[in-house]
Amino acid sequence: MSEIQNTRHVVSITTGRHSTYLLLRMVEENMPIDAVLFADTGMEFPEAYKHLECLDEWLFRERGIHITRLQHPHSFEYLLLETPIHSQYQRAKRKRLGIPPVGNGWPRSRKRWCCTEMVDHVIDQEICRMEQESSVIHYLPLASNDVHRITPRQHHSEIRYPFMEWNDDCQISRLFCWVNGFPLYYNLTYESRCPCWCCPFRLRTEQAFFRKSHPDLWKRLLELDQRVKDQFGDQWIGRFWKEYSLEEFSKWLEETNYP
Ligand code: SF4
Repeated sequence: MSEIQNTRHVVSITTGRHSTYLLLRMVEENMPIDAVLFADTGMEFPEAYKHLECLDEWLFRERGIHITRLQHPHSFEYLLLETPIHSQYQRAKRKRLGIPPVGNGWPRSRKRWCCTEMVDHVIDQEICRMEQESSVIHYLPLASNDVHRITPRQHHSEIRYPFMEWNDDCQISRLFCWVNGFPLYYNLTYESRCPCWCCPFRLRTEQAFFRKSHPDLWKRLLELDQRVKDQFGDQWIGRFWKEYSLEEFSKWLEETNYP
């Protein structure tokens, strides 16, 4: 009995639909939830933060707990442009290529430093802290087709993927959120599962709609990209995309009046 009481059930979420679905369904299934963690990169769309607020209010009504918002001690911009690179190998490589030994540059498929450092690491650190007080079961919002997204974690707690156990698909999760009063903010700007407006992994169509729907943020993204290019030149870490620059893409959208 004391072992059961000493176990904390901790759900880590993003602002995405899978996370919303996981939380709604866990409450509906009457599953235990002691804490809900969200790691904030500080770079998400205003709609995402609004959605998080609604989810937080709902969770408090249902279970009397608030979402715990965690943040990396440094900003996305600092890690992008200023953080010192410690790896000897990387420093030597950068020296050879004439790249400054600071800043991670844009995230790339083999080095999604922002996901690793600003999200997974921050969550895992909090779970490690909790492990000092009790045993923890960590619930993650991965669906059946997300097996490739499972990464090694830094904590020792048991990990569960209820979404996979339910074997539901994305359409069901979307519908479930809608029916339960969370239409979410998804439209053509937010189709993929990359919640940050500065993310190079978002689909091109999303970027096109993003430019139209959030001109101020788009301007910030172009400015940020310019700073990255000024620092890293045409090196791989200075490129938002491989094929063409964000500026060229933006001009093309303007000329073709797309979308
Ligand atoms: S959504 Fe993109 S920018 Fe944001 S943390 Fe993930 S990879 Fe990084």
